[in-house]
Amino acid sequence: MDRLGSTRSGRTPFSVEFSPPRDAEAEGRLWRAVRTFERLRPAFVSMTYGAGGSTRDRTVRVTGQLAEETTLLPVAHLTAVGHSIDELRAMVGAYADRGITNILALRGDPPGNPLGEWEKHPQGLEHADELVRLVRELGDFHVGVASFPEGHHRSPDLEHDTRYLVQKLRAGAEYSITQMFFDVEHYLRLRDRVAAFDAEQGAKPIIPEIMPITSLRSARRSLELSGSQLPPALEERLRLAAGDGPEENRAAVREVGIEVATEMCERLIAEGAPCLHFITLNFARATSEVLTNLGYEVEAAAPQPA
Ligand SMILES: Cc1cc2nc3c(=O)[nH]c(=O)nc-3n(C[C@H](O)[C@H](O)[C@H](O)COP(=O)(O)OP(=O)(O)OC[C@H]3O[C@@H](n4cnc5c(N)ncnc54)[C@H](O)[C@@H]3O)c2cc1C
Repeated sequence: MDRLGSTRSGRTPFSVEFSPPRDAEAEGRLWRAVRTFERLRPAFVSMTYGAGGSTRDRTVRVTGQLAEETTLLPVAHLTAVGHSIDELRAMVGAYADRGITNILALRGDPPGNPLGEWEKHPQGLEHADELVRLVRELGDFHVGVASFPEGHHRSPDLEHDTRYLVQKLRAGAEYSITQMFFDVEHYLRLRDRVAAFDAEQGAKPIIPEIMPITSLRSARRSLELSGSQLPPALEERLRLAAGDGPEENRAAVREVGIEVATEMCERLIAEGAPCLHFITLNFARATSEVLTNLGYEVEAAAPQPA
């Protein structure tokens, strides 16, 4: 991927994930986060693609604006679910028209119930490796894929999961971004599994995804959909912080969430992670706090020409 690998300061690069905003208020919030992150110089920013293609037009529009109106390098998520091959070709063309050449190729989940039975579009694709090939055939794109430190929920075992991740990399993906996890050992074991399966593919970057927890309730919902687990000791810590009241103690949960994310990042950096990818939910504050704890500094804005 363009620009991935180092920062001007020699620090481990970081990147952030945004989602297409639902309304004007959410769009304002997204742009405030974008402007904050611009000053922190992420290696790239990724924009999710709503379940079942539900945010297709907004994803393309906002990702295009990131490419055209900011200094950031956007990576567009693209899912195969609910799309014919012709529609997928048109989507890739729409990205290319906006100058977007980095695509995260995903299969997606069944709309309505992400954990439900997968059904391929009659003229569509069955798996993400086919989407990787399709995007690569369509032009000079840099393609990434998803990886799952704890195994994808549809994989019968980790051996099967590793085999198909390697298949996506062999199809032409240059890197993967992981599902969120809360035990760094899961990430390290994924890296070892891929390297043991195929040394060449194992050399490609596996970018860990980090979610700083700011609410236990919303973290539980994300975990349910992702198939990731909270280690029991962390679950207990967060439960105690949340308290027994009708409303969870968000400030206390947040404090634990930021501390844990910071510790995870320190370990990931020490273990040579190629980049730290943060789920932001379109808010800059939690991720900025983790970055500040890690010693990343906001770079001064470039002087404007007179
Ligand atoms: C970093 C990241 C970003 C994401 N962004 C989005 C997003 O923007 N929008 C969205 O809707 N979802 C997103 N998802 C969720 C993702 O779409 C789901 O997890 C989906 O269920 C799997 O997608 P995949 O690309 O890994 O699918 P696949 O790679 O196709 O894998 C799905 C299952 O099939 C198996 N498999 C893969 N290839 C083959 C094959 N050739 N033959 C047999 N079995 C195979 C895999 O082992 C796995 O069990 C994201 C996930 C991650 C980790």
